[in-house]
Amino acid sequence: MQEFYQELARNIEELKDKNLFRRLKTISGPPAEWVEIAGKRLLNLSSNNYLGIAGHPLLKKGAMEAVERLGCGATASRLIAGNYDLYGQVEKELADFKNTEAALIFNSGYAANMGIIASLVTRGDLIISDELNHASIIDGILLSKADCIRYPHRDLNSLETALTRAKGYKRKLIVTDTVFSMDGGLAPLPEIVALKEQYGATLMIDEAHGGGIFGDHGRGVAELYDLAEKVEVNMGTLSKAFGCAGAYVAGKKVLINYLQNKTRNLIYTTGLPPAVLGSIQAALQVVQAEKWRREQVLLKAARLRERLQAAGFNLLDGQSQIIPVIIGDNETTLEFSRRLMEAGILAVGIRPPTVPASLARIRLTVMATHKERDLELATETIIKIGRELQVI
Ligand SMILES: *Cc1c(COP(=O)(O)O)cnc(C)c1O
Repeated sequence: MQEFYQELARNIEELKDKNLFRRLKTISGPPAEWVEIAGKRLLNLSSNNYLGIAGHPLLKKGAMEAVERLGCGATASRLIAGNYDLYGQVEKELADFKNTEAALIFNSGYAANMGIIASLVTRGDLIISDELNHASIIDGILLSKADCIRYPHRDLNSLETALTRAKGYKRKLIVTDTVFSMDGGLAPLPEIVALKEQYGATLMIDEAHGGGIFGDHGRGVAELYDLAEKVEVNMGTLSKAFGCAGAYVAGKKVLINYLQNKTRNLIYTTGLPPAVLGSIQAALQVVQAEKWRREQVLLKAARLRERLQAAGFNLLDGQSQIIPVIIGDNETTLEFSRRLMEAGILAVGIRPPTVPASLARIRLTVMATHKERDLELATETIIKIGRELQVI
């Protein structure tokens, strides 16, 4: 037993030596534009609360009414006795929002991706996956036991090559994030859709960072490109822009029926608590009614991106509310983040294995409700520290 703990301690030392040790930060109070950590007020540039609605009065009201009526826990799997009435109602509203026949809610984006992928493909099938897809997609692929070709990020030639090699496989599933979570770039959806049609493949998209932000109704990047109907499996989360928790897949009734019967991450887990369903119901209303939020978040992000780019930072090639400031090595990234914190800015460093080695970065995310003045001051601070650390 002693040896077991000693080995864990050694593993931790190894992480520390490589500047890869991670620590939990405790946030006091709600995840808003400003947060408090260890008594210090910080401008929050690390939240996925993109629309600023996690604390919206209507979301709180929705959650509280659901608790009053239904209590705190679902107490069973949805397929046993946990499928209380709000589920069907919210799934109907979600399908209407996404303009699809049906929708199915999962307990988290992580669970959804694992479960959906593992139930759609198996041995004898092929998954073709962008190399920067989210970890939950990668884990779903591993669990599925299907063969997998990972293509270089957004590289359409490689995607096509993979498709030409897919002839012997029964099912060919292309999977991609629509907004890449650590780079902030969009997937080339029109080209991907054209290729999947040409080669008879199926397409699954992950709108975790696109939903609520892109498209006229905030349905996501697929709506932006007017391609939603061409996507068989439209997955997204309710934990980011929607400010709640959980995730969904939207699509044809037959797909939803199949997943209800096959997805272990739905069958063998207790349903979400009523409070979450109540808040999702309200979030769907707010996202549709308050269009200014998605306009503001993209406008503010574009301005911040422009200013940092002009100062000489490498921001990769993003078009979203996620702005990666590439630093390079882990040590400088940690130091950058530490200095930002000292200066009153929460902007967390992202290191391998979340991003490729030597591409450690500060990942900035903008909220619709950030004050322009706060963002301006933060930009000046980021540029100053960038110069001090000779990043620019
Ligand atoms: C955050 C994220 C997930 C996981 O969603 P959770 O609801 O946080 O579990 C899945 N896919 C992508 C692309 C994400 O960024």
